[in-house]
Amino acid sequence: MCIFCKIISGDIPNKTIMENETFLAFEDINPLRKIHILVIPKEHFSSFNTTPANIIGQMTGFIQELTKKLNLNENGYRLITNIGENGGQEVEHLHFHILGGEKVGRLVDKR
Ligand code: AMP
Repeated sequence: MCIFCKIISGDIPNKTIMENETFLAFEDINPLRKIHILVIPKEHFSSFNTTPANIIGQMTGFIQELTKKLNLNENGYRLITNIGENGGQEVEHLHFHILGGEKVGRLVDKR
């Protein structure tokens, strides 16, 4: 079972921010900004690439509800999903990072 499936099953504790029967939002264990939340589907999909479009659609609504609830919409936030090795994905269970609560900063140009 992957680490995020263990969080969903309750085998690994988490700091839940919001959930419904399909999705869970919880605090990242290693926050990179003042607010760093992960949003995952309760069903296991390895990444964005293998997740059905209807799940992504429902997840969009869930994330919009969450950011509204946390008052992130006025000042903005960053939404990221890493995919595969080049994308820097470490946990192979689809997750979106929500980073905010302060200026997140620009992506650094490494070309
Ligand atoms: P990624 O590199 O996009 O796969 O991101 C994985 C994220 O999961 C990292 O930001 C980790 O800090 C986070 N993470 C790993 N284990 C846990 C955990 N048990 N609880 C909360 N966040 C975790």
